[in-house]
Amino acid sequence: MLKAAFPGSFDPPTSGHINIIKRAAAIFDELVVVVAENKQKHYLFTASERADMIRELTNECKNVSVAVCDTLIVDFLKEKGIKLLLRGVRGLEDFSYEFEVSMMNRMLDSGVETIFMTTAPEYFVIRSSSIKEVASFKGNLKGMVPPLVEKALKEKYI
Ligand code: ADP
Repeated sequence: MLKAAFPGSFDPPTSGHINIIKRAAAIFDELVVVVAENKQKHYLFTASERADMIRELTNECKNVSVAVCDTLIVDFLKEKGIKLLLRGVRGLEDFSYEFEVSMMNRMLDSGVETIFMTTAPEYFVIRSSSIKEVASFKGNLKGMVPPLVEKALKEKYI
């Protein structure tokens, strides 16, 4: 059984995240999308709102589940018996950040392997922070986030 976890803030989930989830679901036997709940961060959507959106957007992938995590990811992985950590990379900047995070996770738990999946070219510039900025100015997000997320953003920025 090849089981992997894909952690992130997903505030909100974008078409780039969903693309990675669906491609990973075709590779791994089981994929757990892990929604981070970090008390030191300020999120636009609550953890359960983020998790519910991902659940709805991936409900045709039977091997994908969604969990919320408010601990270190390595502790979550240990508890669930998962050794593979999946991260998406858009470019070199992402890679240098992700590389450091993967080294830290390895220092915390040498049994954890991080695997990187490159973005699809059409999602190269999509990041949750820019999506929120565009949404706050009521910009057109078509194709960048699924319609369900577009609707949820409109409700947040009435
Ligand atoms: P972000 O705010 O950068 O979207 P997240 O913590 O929500 O950050 O991202 C979770 C994971 O998804 C990270 O590994 C991140 O690099 C990856 N990711 C985010 N956006 C994309 C995208 N457009 N294409 C591929 N991977 C992405």
